[in-house]
Amino acid sequence: MPSLKPFWLVLCLLISASALAQQSSLYTYQDLSHFYYARQKDSLKKAWDCPDVFKEKAAQKKYKEIWDGRTDRVMGYIADDAYVHDKEVGDYIEGVVNQLVAGNRQLLPIPPLVMLDRDPSVNAYAVGGNFLAVNLGLVAWCRTREELAFTLAHELSHNILKHWETSAYETAKWLSSDEYKQSVNAVLDSKYERLTRLRKVMETYTFSRTRHQRYHESDADSLAIILMRNSHFAFSPSFFQRLDSADMEYRQPLQHPLKDYFTVYQLSFDDSWTQKRSHGLSTRAYNFSESSNLEDSLKTHPDCLVRYEKTKQWATPNPTFTRVPRNIHDIASRMLIWNMYNSTNVTACLYRILLIKDQGNTDPWYDFMVSNAFTALLFADHKLSRFNAIGVMPKEYISKDYYGLQTMLEQMPRESLTAWTQSLQGQGFWKTLPQPEKELKPLFYAIALDPEDSDKNRKQAAKTFFAENGNSMYCEFAHVFEK
Ligand SMILES: [Zn+2]
Repeated sequence: MPSLKPFWLVLCLLISASALAQQSSLYTYQDLSHFYYARQKDSLKKAWDCPDVFKEKAAQKKYKEIWDGRTDRVMGYIADDAYVHDKEVGDYIEGVVNQLVAGNRQLLPIPPLVMLDRDPSVNAYAVGGNFLAVNLGLVAWCRTREELAFTLAHELSHNILKHWETSAYETAKWLSSDEYKQSVNAVLDSKYERLTRLRKVMETYTFSRTRHQRYHESDADSLAIILMRNSHFAFSPSFFQRLDSADMEYRQPLQHPLKDYFTVYQLSFDDSWTQKRSHGLSTRAYNFSESSNLEDSLKTHPDCLVRYEKTKQWATPNPTFTRVPRNIHDIASRMLIWNMYNSTNVTACLYRILLIKDQGNTDPWYDFMVSNAFTALLFADHKLSRFNAIGVMPKEYISKDYYGLQTMLEQMPRESLTAWTQSLQGQGFWKTLPQPEKELKPLFYAIALDPEDSDKNRKQAAKTFFAENGNSMYCEFAHVFEK
């Protein structure tokens, strides 16, 4: 009886509901790069006019090919929505970039164009031409503002030092050189071992390129440290040690037995699902390392150790670090999870949700995503592509718990998968969700539970969603079923 509830409880619910509503608005459909950067795309294309750098026509032609290839690639990424604009995350990154620019006016006379890439890997990249991109995975991973600043400073340094332009120049020079032509002709003329010879030609080139690349990395680190100092950011070389294990997200163990994450929803869990039944190659005994300790990871990634050793002497004495605000982490990780879901990477998406739950996060949005994950899996199962949706990862990259989850998703019978999806779509948390999430439910029902299982119904549900929620980021998902 609502009237029996003390008034403060109602108030609390109101507050938390409005806080949730606020928290849950991520980017909009129109923030996807093909909309949002439509104008920048045109001006970028104009600004990236290929300069004349070679006197020889053939070399200049090659150079232009490489140069325009870059433009086409970036334009393609923008058109395919590889990037997204998000006001809060975007402003946060811009704040860091602005501090770097303000402290280094001579090296950075024009502020760079920075885009947010939806890729979940911990990375950022510079492609020259005062353009750089930061992956969502990096934003979610960075603990401090200084870590983000260093990554940006490193990428900015590549641009300042014209590394992309230099590589393009070297490549054009090599591909139009007499030496290259002669070696290729020699290969073509030879009757025997063409492939081996061709491989030799490529190897020599790749070797010198890799060596250059290594110098480039080291130069970018050195300049980044200077940019950091000029703009009063503390630098800690231990960043490289942390970076070294950045790709081990899925080797992190869970805090509770796998079962616990699902029985909270009153789902009936069968332990045998997590045990491989078949006796194929993949059932070989395998030792999971419990956690990724530093020693182990440094062994596998010597580069980060080298970078650590090289920069150790430049550590800021008595440094102070600023934590990346909670809301930035939260937005980045939710965007990341949604985008992984959108590209049907069910296990990884679900595992990330469980890791976030381990941090004590009780936002019902993550329950919503658990439900969606099983809907996607059931839909894939109907289409006989469950295996693809699971996105099986090799054991050496994942924890025992990840492996358990992966095996469970592989082995749970269709009837249980259907029962789980039904149950999850009927849970109470849906009522606490904001409008767009709530209004996605009929579409999720039409996708996997509707006994009619018809594309027509799915199309209708997607259309209805669009009509009511044209600004929602979920439109990208609904769009697939509208066609
Ligand atoms: Zn680099």
